[in-house]
Amino acid sequence: MYDPLINSHPNNQTFAPSYWASTQVLPAPTAALSGCQQTDVAIVGGGYTGLLTAYYLATEFNIECHVLEANQVGFGASARNAGFVLKGSGRLGYAAMTKRWDLATTKGIFDEFTQAVARVDGLIKQHNIACEPQEAGYLKVAHNPKALVSLQNAANYIQQHLADSQDSGAEFISSQDFRAQYLDHHQAYGALRLKDGFGLNPLKLLLGYKSMVQNQGVTISEQSCVLEWIEEGGKHRLITDKGELIANKVIMAGNAYTQVNSNCRF
Ligand SMILES: Cc1cc2nc3c(=O)[nH]c(=O)nc-3n(C[C@H](O)[C@H](O)[C@H](O)COP(=O)(O)OP(=O)(O)OC[C@H]3O[C@@H](n4cnc5c(N)ncnc54)[C@H](O)[C@@H]3O)c2cc1C
Repeated sequence: MYDPLINSHPNNQTFAPSYWASTQVLPAPTAALSGCQQTDVAIVGGGYTGLLTAYYLATEFNIECHVLEANQVGFGASARNAGFVLKGSGRLGYAAMTKRWDLATTKGIFDEFTQAVARVDGLIKQHNIACEPQEAGYLKVAHNPKALVSLQNAANYIQQHLADSQDSGAEFISSQDFRAQYLDHHQAYGALRLKDGFGLNPLKLLLGYKSMVQNQGVTISEQSCVLEWIEEGGKHRLITDKGELIANKVIMAGNAYTQVNSNCRF
């Protein structure tokens, strides 16, 4: 296990055992960075953030980039999460967001959530990623009558203020219908169903993203932990234990596994 209070760098970590890891034979790691290499944009971290950043830089902007991953793609959170592709599940509801900010901001957040789910769905279909996507539909179940009122209010709020079309994608399901159609349990008081959320195998999704990025000609160097980052003459030197990558720009996608300052030893 990596613990920033004990380990100075997130390198030399074995793949974490998980249910997802038990479903997939891992591909052999790609070659570690060696010698002195150059790129336009260096990306530190090979999780969803790093790999999709590389994919869009390459495909939409034709920018040369190179991903450095401390361990193996899948070491981080991207391969050991719950596998839910959902509109945000934070505690602040949409009506509360409008109270805190304004309706335009809330609508912007709602639209981004919607686009994010559609983006993942689109990439899976476009690249035939075999990540076991489940039937769409995310149920928030009320565990008491008070929760049911709040879910009904949430469905109404989405329908009245946030949705662009007649079909808001947010359906309120009464207790009776919920028990008849989904789960006959005495503590299920009804539900809010968001029609676009779905589950998948997150490790398989990540490995699909990895192939997608490699197919664009992007180099991914695994077992290449950035140990030192030096800014010199308008360039960035990223030092690993076997090599050095010189880049015009650096994108940090290391999640909470690393520090973000340049001119530092990590
Ligand atoms: C228990 C749990 C459940 C979750 N469930 C969900 C869910 O159901 N749905 C959802 O959408 N999100 C979920 N999340 C959140 C989601 O997993 C993360 O937001 C996402 O994986 C972050 O991706 P990332 O690429 O930023 O980071 P990571 O996947 O953690 O990747 C960061 C990578 O950077 C590498 N790295 C770090 N430092 C260096 C360095 N110096 N040099 C080279 N490489 C470096 C690491 O080795 C690592 O592989 C969950 C998270 C957790 C922890």
